[in-house]
Amino acid sequence: MVKAAILEGVEKLSVTDYPVPEVEANGILLRMELCGVCGTDMHMYGGKMALPFPVIPGHEFVGIVEEIGEKAKGYEARGQPLGVGDRVAVVPGTNRFCGDCYGCRFMPHKPTLCTNRKVLGVNMTSAEAPHLLGGWTEKVYVDAEHFWVYKVPDEVPPEVAVLSEPMAVSSRAFERAVAPGLPTYGEGFRVGGSVVVQGAGAIGLLAVATAELAGAGTIINVDMVDERLRMAERLGAEHVIDMRQHRSAEERVAEVNRLTGGLGADVVIECVGVPAAVPEGIDMTRRGGKFVEVGHYTNPGTVPINPHTICFKDMDILGSWAYPPTQFATCLDLMKLSIDRLPLHEIVTHRFKVGDAQKAMDNVLARCGIKSAIQG
Ligand SMILES: [Zn+2]
Ligand SMILES: [Zn+2]
Repeated sequence: MVKAAILEGVEKLSVTDYPVPEVEANGILLRMELCGVCGTDMHMYGGKMALPFPVIPGHEFVGIVEEIGEKAKGYEARGQPLGVGDRVAVVPGTNRFCGDCYGCRFMPHKPTLCTNRKVLGVNMTSAEAPHLLGGWTEKVYVDAEHFWVYKVPDEVPPEVAVLSEPMAVSSRAFERAVAPGLPTYGEGFRVGGSVVVQGAGAIGLLAVATAELAGAGTIINVDMVDERLRMAERLGAEHVIDMRQHRSAEERVAEVNRLTGGLGADVVIECVGVPAAVPEGIDMTRRGGKFVEVGHYTNPGTVPINPHTICFKDMDILGSWAYPPTQFATCLDLMKLSIDRLPLHEIVTHRFKVGDAQKAMDNVLARCGIKSAIQG
């Protein structure tokens, strides 16, 4: 039997046993090593999403191939052979889009716009075999034909590879600010440019790391928790703005201006998810710069914005919704590159056994540490 944490309803998390599933030709059975707990899991738990209960939460998992079907051996995303004992990271969103919605028909280059997307650990029920369709379990079943599976480079340990999914969110948001083919015209990000990241949760910290690895000059992080601010510095933030010292939005904007030669930042990435951070971030962006919104995955309400600022600054405001499945390649390559440079392995601060999923959830709800993870 396999132990799994299941969400049976709103705020109803329990632990159950499922039989070991039969592995089909397209299938992979993973021994789950680590699975991150993220804001989405919190929203699922809190009843903010319509879900096909019961669901095994957890969409940020890394594991070791324990059993693999003949066809699945040829399905590694970058064409590497796959076999028993390999460590893999799995893109939780399916690569099979419905093909019928507006996004699929008219914007196939933006696969996350499909309105009928299936995501492991989010909206796939564990009611029927193979049951193990989420990360908070000792073993995960993956249909490798319908989900992209990446072999993790040997250099990257599980406590770093487990960040593939949140880093895909962060790095894709960052890449929204890269104007293809136009770096010398000062449109958005350029090598040596200035980047403000608002917020130092896992997404904010991984945005800082991405900016650092992409060759940013000045990186400024804004947060109010010591542990997170110190980590932001170690991941590449040259300056941090502590909200307990710079208490008003005006003071923080003035501080960004001071640190960027009076211009404002080339790029601002909003990773807080609080509406008030948005006009503040727009004010931190220089004229001709880019502001990227990735923090508001759910809907906490509205905020007044001065449209004159947007017009006067001739700036771009961009949204980032998830990431294409190719983004995991970017992340795994960046991780391999940064393994001796950046302390990515310290972002997971708390680990819990599958049977202690409730404790993990409580820890995240209490906002303890930086990132909590379930251990297989
Ligand atoms: Zn997540
Ligand atoms: Zn679709």
